[in-house]
Amino acid sequence: MHIGIAGAGLLGRLLALEISRKGHRVEVFDGARDPGPRETSGTEGAAWTAAGMLSPVAELDRSNEDVFRLGLRSCALWPGIAQALGMPEVVHFDGSLLVAHRSDAGAAQRLVGLLQTKAGAQHQPQPLSVDALAELEASVHGPALAWLLPCEGYVEVHNTLHALHAQGTRQGVQWHWGRSVHAVEQGALVVDERRTFDHVFDVRGVGARAQLPVRGVRGEIFLLHAPEVSLRRPLRLMHPRHSVYIVPRPDNYFVVGASEIESEDRSSVSLRSTLELLSAAHSAIPALAEARVVHSESNLRPALPDNLPLLQHSGACTRINGLYRHGWLLAPALVEQACQELEL
Ligand SMILES: Cc1cc2nc3c(=O)[nH]c(=O)nc-3n(C[C@H](O)[C@H](O)[C@H](O)COP(=O)(O)OP(=O)(O)OC[C@H]3O[C@@H](n4cnc5c(N)ncnc54)[C@H](O)[C@@H]3O)c2cc1C
Repeated sequence: MHIGIAGAGLLGRLLALEISRKGHRVEVFDGARDPGPRETSGTEGAAWTAAGMLSPVAELDRSNEDVFRLGLRSCALWPGIAQALGMPEVVHFDGSLLVAHRSDAGAAQRLVGLLQTKAGAQHQPQPLSVDALAELEASVHGPALAWLLPCEGYVEVHNTLHALHAQGTRQGVQWHWGRSVHAVEQGALVVDERRTFDHVFDVRGVGARAQLPVRGVRGEIFLLHAPEVSLRRPLRLMHPRHSVYIVPRPDNYFVVGASEIESEDRSSVSLRSTLELLSAAHSAIPALAEARVVHSESNLRPALPDNLPLLQHSGACTRINGLYRHGWLLAPALVEQACQELEL
């Protein structure tokens, strides 16, 4: 079959990889001028800004059973995808940590209680003593309460997006950069002209707003470099206003994120978010005081009114959108489901 894909973000690249692997002819159109990422922040797909946490359990306080189920399925799929990219090292599954200071003990206990109820026996948060926490992660000092979420992990997002593009190219995918898709119709993409295909996918994230009620939810992150700090697992700190996390990257780099603001403002990171996110991170890992702030970035998470993912087939057109805070967690499972349903 001849398949057209609008959007070369996370979903677009995973779809292109999967469908071309099965021998179909795939063309992908994206408004970005090249495979990315660009120097200026906030102008490209959300996938580049994401921390890449794979947190089916920790996110249960703001998701539902479908997201949990799809998230667990993606966690099972990611190692095979990384293997197929020839880069098994970009996916990490050593669990993640949920920590809280004594002052936030009430909120932490309530959250853990909720996760215990929703996650089921197999995926229960495991309480850790302060000593057990220090043994797992020597740089973490300060939090009085900690839990290990054993099934969770993270993906190195930039390395993975580059590798998806490279592997897609090797499999014969045709990428069309600097080509915005104005409309996605049954079996057709309206680029400058109308291009027809056997089947098309609309995976433009917030760029699909003319055809779906999708909105952008602003998120801000920081990239720190701290040669003195070691951290193997994503760490999520209870915070009264933000879901603050620190996610490792290779060579002692760390992503600190993320604010969540109901705004489509893509401008630079605010002073308030800087103070709140970085002081919270420093309170859990004091050695971050000497970290260098390498980069900060804001971007928009694509969200539908119910904040849940949408996978919708309509004749020769499939739309996937609304991955919100869970794109890296959900995309492999949604791509698998879409291909199975279409018998691709
Ligand atoms: C700060 C932040 C932190 C996050 N952290 C996590 C995390 O830890 N874990 C997690 O699972 N998820 C996380 N996410 C969410 C995740 O990044 C998104 O859910 C995911 O990127 C959505 O994938 P997508 O392919 O639908 O959209 P995108 O990745 O946004 O890709 C959309 C693509 O479509 C292109 N496009 C747009 N308009 C057009 C057009 N008209 N024509 C052609 N192409 C177009 C864009 O250029 C882009 O390449 C985070 C997001 C943010 C912003």
